[in-house]
Amino acid sequence: MSDTTPLHYLDYAATTPADPRVIEAMTACLGADGIFGNPASSSHAAGRLAKDKVEHARAQVAALIGADADEIVWTSGATESNNLALKGYAETATDKRHLITSRLEHKAILDTMANLSTRGMTATYLTPTADGEITVDAVAAAIGPDTGLVSLMLVNNELGTLTDIGAISRIVHAAGALLHVDAAQALGKTPIDVRALGIDLLSMSAHKVYGPKGIGALFVRRDIAARIAPQIHGGGHERGLRSGTLATHQIVGMGTACELAADKLEREAVRIAALGARLKDALLALGDITHNAAAARRIPHTLSLTVNAPGFFPFMLGDALAVSSTSACNSTSGAPSHVLTAIGLDPQSAGRTVRISFGRFTTEQDVDFAIACFERALEQCRASAATGFTASRQIAPADLKAIRNAGFRAVICNRPDGESADQPAFDEIAAAARELGLDARYLPVERDRIGNAEVDAFGALVDALPKPVLAYCGSGSRAGMLWNRLTARRTATTA
Ligand code: PLP
Repeated sequence: MSDTTPLHYLDYAATTPADPRVIEAMTACLGADGIFGNPASSSHAAGRLAKDKVEHARAQVAALIGADADEIVWTSGATESNNLALKGYAETATDKRHLITSRLEHKAILDTMANLSTRGMTATYLTPTADGEITVDAVAAAIGPDTGLVSLMLVNNELGTLTDIGAISRIVHAAGALLHVDAAQALGKTPIDVRALGIDLLSMSAHKVYGPKGIGALFVRRDIAARIAPQIHGGGHERGLRSGTLATHQIVGMGTACELAADKLEREAVRIAALGARLKDALLALGDITHNAAAARRIPHTLSLTVNAPGFFPFMLGDALAVSSTSACNSTSGAPSHVLTAIGLDPQSAGRTVRISFGRFTTEQDVDFAIACFERALEQCRASAATGFTASRQIAPADLKAIRNAGFRAVICNRPDGESADQPAFDEIAAAARELGLDARYLPVERDRIGNAEVDAFGALVDALPKPVLAYCGSGSRAGMLWNRLTARRTATTA
């Protein structure tokens, strides 16, 4: 990272860095002295070399899921794969226009389902158990003669729960329907055999498995390919299923990533399970933390924890610890995670939930650092439960929902506007706060200029506001110092 603070990255479910061997393989496909040809240019060696690379990568991806190479269709990622599977099915379905999915799915499924509902398809959304599982019985109860396709994820992106796809596929096929599986979070983490599991369509993404962003694939079982209509038309690439010049470097990156993942899968799962268990045990021992979906069958790579201490909100953990307050796809909206609310968490608890996800480059030091961050945040919450005050680093308008959900009723800005370029202006914070019913006040203090006048003004403001109050500046230190000086001054006066 370019920042001076070393980053402890525990957000591998959001994305992974490309493995250096992936980068090397990709770089060899870009320049004039490399394999840069268009894989469709069969009339010269540059094109043929590129095609060989693409086909080798196709075989590498197929090998990781037990498929044949000619069943792999390149796409731009799992979002596109999901769209192609669902819309591609819907377009050819003259009957069997009922779809089944679950409330746990990624937005790339839920939004596509919603779109198809406006085009004459109907959809049933299964509710998971409180442990985050979609049961075989739930599928059996929803499926009927009109059901044409069932779409379920193999691994949930927020909870790490595993779906019993093998058992579900038997019910789906007995009803004459197809089974689509979103495997974006499963690829390279848990073994996948599309034949043994009875999967007809499977979505994959390279950037979750140490490959580059912008490339993915859809497995389309050979004998159902005619039932999937292309969604991108052009030169008839990918056997007519997905047109567009193949991005050799991206494809080679995904192929290399899949081969590396296959090689490491079991050893990595054991190593990560040990790291995860150590972190989980240490955090649960701090108290006020619960593990979501604890009883479910899960992969060890993803841990969902709710911090029940009033006043906690995820970014109290600090900038140097990269974890997710909700899945990456939801975090821009500031809305509580639909996955967490689907398993029964109220919006407040969902707002106090952190997803920690481990990966290839996670170390014991990352785990130690995370434990220390949680310890500090909990101490802060417990102290502020008594005082009604918390100091915070810079907040953004999108953070205010989590802050409100954490119980805060007022925010104070202690940083003058314009101090740094990336800082949201107080007016933006105030407008967002007003919409949420939070009181927002501006009491800017110049850096290193905290005198008694500033401390007294701060005290008067805090006294007047509904509690608990959150005060913020760049790093949180100025707001914290104002509070400490105020407390010291008041203690001295009463002594
Ligand atoms: N499906 C799941 C379960 C995911 O976790 C993600 C990414 O977060 C996607 C689909 C979307 O994948 P992509 O980023 O490749 O479009």
